[in-house]
Amino acid sequence: MTLEGKTAVITGSNSGIGLGVARELARAGANVVLNSFTDREEDHTLAAELAREFSVKAQYVQADMSKGADCRALIEKAGACDILINNAGIQHVSPIDEFPQEKWDAIIAINMNSNFHTMAAALPGMRAAGWGRIVNIASAHGLTASPYKAAYVAAKHGVVGMTKTVALETAEEPITCNAICPGYVLTPLVEAQIPDTMEKYGMGREEVIKKVMLERQPSREFATVEQLGGTAVFLCSDAAAQITGTTISVDGGWTAL
Ligand code: NAD
Repeated sequence: MTLEGKTAVITGSNSGIGLGVARELARAGANVVLNSFTDREEDHTLAAELAREFSVKAQYVQADMSKGADCRALIEKAGACDILINNAGIQHVSPIDEFPQEKWDAIIAINMNSNFHTMAAALPGMRAAGWGRIVNIASAHGLTASPYKAAYVAAKHGVVGMTKTVALETAEEPITCNAICPGYVLTPLVEAQIPDTMEKYGMGREEVIKKVMLERQPSREFATVEQLGGTAVFLCSDAAAQITGTTISVDGGWTAL
């Protein structure tokens, strides 16, 4: 399976799932455009390393996904966008009556509105190229809820709805639009929470992972960024050409409960 000659734009890809997905797309031969809101030397180094490791073209484009104009500028600066992975996302946990307005606005903007802007900006180019793949990284929280995550759950449900709509608008074209719904994924962010949780509960690493962190994930295993990348590569393959407007859960059985 090769994505040689295709260019993939991955929002929020200087760490975690976005970087994992970018790596798997590059491994499959795609040129990749990394993104985040920062503009540090290490962001550009990440792109150079991917280019070297997988013999593809790679660049880093700074753009703040909380701003509509930046989202659209990212697609323009990328030069091409055959594959769009909407991944940038943040979280805030709070009861709804105490939820800070600025956190609500930021989560809705970054986790949901950015998908609207990037998809709107990328579709004309996909139509002109006669091929396109859109993969929105939603969440198990796009299909189900947890308390204290009102903005995140609302945004991710919105992403799933938007995914279905765009799939219907492109159904007769060689373009697909799907969402991946991960459960708990072992990213650096999650890894960093393990020591504190071990101390808080007086438990060992494995016990914290299985009994506290993965309490809702029946497999009691984290999904990995490589597995999410592999799922994205599959959705970009010819085998997935008739898969559109749907969600693929990578959640160890969470949403089967
Ligand atoms: P992460 O914090 O490692 O990655 C988030 C990425 O988004 C980073 O690259 C960050 O720089 C970028 N980002 C944040 N704000 C941005 C902004 N304003 N503009 C541009 N980029 C911005 O977290 P992650 O776990 O890799 O999450 C990636 C996506 O996967 C998110 O949409 C998240 O909701 C989703 N997700 C994660 C999990 C999990 O368990 N880790 C589970 C389900 C869904």
